Amino acid sequence: MRKKIVAANWKMNLSLDEGKILVENILNGLPLLNENRQVIIAPSFPYLTSVTSMLEEYEHIYTASQNVAAETSGAYTGEVAAFMLKSAGTHYAIIGHSERRQFFKEEDTTLAKKIDLSLANNLQIIFCCGEPLEIRDSNIQNDYVANQIAAAIFHLSEEQLKNVIIAYEPIWAIGTGRTASAAQAQEMHAHIRKTIAEKYGAAAAQATTLLYGGSCNDKNASELFACADVDGGLIGGASLKAETFLPIVNAMMEA
Ligand code: PEP
Repeated sequence: MRKKIVAANWKMNLSLDEGKILVENILNGLPLLNENRQVIIAPSFPYLTSVTSMLEEYEHIYTASQNVAAETSGAYTGEVAAFMLKSAGTHYAIIGHSERRQFFKEEDTTLAKKIDLSLANNLQIIFCCGEPLEIRDSNIQNDYVANQIAAAIFHLSEEQLKNVIIAYEPIWAIGTGRTASAAQAQEMHAHIRKTIAEKYGAAAAQATTLLYGGSCNDKNASELFACADVDGGLIGGASLKAETFLPIVNAMMEA
């Protein structure tokens, strides 16, 4: 049985105090998680240790970084290495978010390095992919997303793939209030699973958790998570309040 997961991407939001209150409120309302129903919180770097220690006594809820350096260690001022994140108790690293690709010009080769370094340091990966609107309008989104996955992931072994979650986030849906329809999400998720199956085999593809991201909220999460190949969500805006985040977690529990 593959894991269902809801992950909160706080992006560059919230003060430390606001973040702590949000975590407290989430923990107060959290349903009983288990090995196959997990929650991940991705605060910004300075809050990772605080949030990680708040989660310490809870099971199946973990922190993720929103980014990780593409270099091992040393003279890279301002960067945060995979080994540092691991040593601070972080479980996951989000890699390849469209905002990193767009604003920080992160290319496939850089993303592949970040993935390799993260896995080498026992961080699990949430790898983001997704097409811009012009690609969707040209109806070539399937090839576009398959190419993103092949470029960053396909050098990994089947064993390494077990530590990778893929988040499909159509760029036209991120932060826009325009969600992919359940049919669009399912179609792309099925395509991603087929792409993985062609490279790694059906069993590996069936075991890979695929998250949807892009204006997923407390109103639409149940419908999206009911899709056969949607195993949960990566949530931006709606993860910033417990009132909107907890219903999304509950939708994942019931899916
Ligand atoms: C995201 O940035 O990962 C995201 C899905 O954002 P939002 O939910 O705000 O669209």
